[in-house]
Amino acid sequence: MASPIVSNAQPILDELKKMENTARMPVFFIGHGNPMNALYDNAFTKKLNTIKAGVPKPKAILVVSAHWLTRGTYVSTNPSPKTIYDFGGFPNELFQVKYEPKGSPDLAKEVAQKINYTKVAEDKEMGLDHGAWTILKHIYPAADIPTFQLSIDYSKPASYHYELAKQLNYLRDKGVLIIGSGNIVHNLGMVDFQNPNNVFDWAREFDTTVKNLLDIGDDVSLINYEKLGKSALLSIPTNDHYLPMIYILGLKNKGEHVEYIYESLEMGSLSMRSFVIK
Ligand code: ZN
Repeated sequence: MASPIVSNAQPILDELKKMENTARMPVFFIGHGNPMNALYDNAFTKKLNTIKAGVPKPKAILVVSAHWLTRGTYVSTNPSPKTIYDFGGFPNELFQVKYEPKGSPDLAKEVAQKINYTKVAEDKEMGLDHGAWTILKHIYPAADIPTFQLSIDYSKPASYHYELAKQLNYLRDKGVLIIGSGNIVHNLGMVDFQNPNNVFDWAREFDTTVKNLLDIGDDVSLINYEKLGKSALLSIPTNDHYLPMIYILGLKNKGEHVEYIYESLEMGSLSMRSFVIK
């Protein structure tokens, strides 16, 4: 006699598969922009307040930030990372902000061991840079999720970072939320502080180019951004803020898509475009 469980096996298997899929963490790219966003209550930070909806509470958060550039790749194993004020010329109020979740040394050490694309060294002293804390303060204000960072080897090309990111993919199935924090258009030398609503034509052009490439999943063109014309060169005079996005692209699985969570250009040469891949 056929067991009813056997006859129902397929729907159960489908259900299990769905559960597996929902357990996989999305990945975020956040355009962090002005460090003062840590204190602001504006359209951008209001949006950050909402993006964890539907995301299971992470076991840990791994941030790849534009503000931890190194020679070689490092992972932070500090059990108690301190807030780093890696900027100058801002009001005192910003230097009073503390965002200090626990670190995640065990997971960080595991990352250092598992990655074999390159040597990943441990950094016991690293705190949280402002690319991490100015946004996490709005996403997880309680600071109750262990957080660690992976540095960006600034001596390596974008293709290297794309490949390295693939080896972080397993973390998505272990309840780790990976966030890239930078800016797609980031030309600090041309930022127009006097006119926050101003947008240079080349900035808009490049931001749109990137959006179109993200929409069709053309990672190769995004990795080879130098070939995208003059607007690319003006938008990425140095690629420190662009590379965190390359990590997030490298973490995309087949069948996943990009969903925009915030789109805006400001101060002439800054794109706040942010997205989730799931
Ligand atoms: Zn920055």
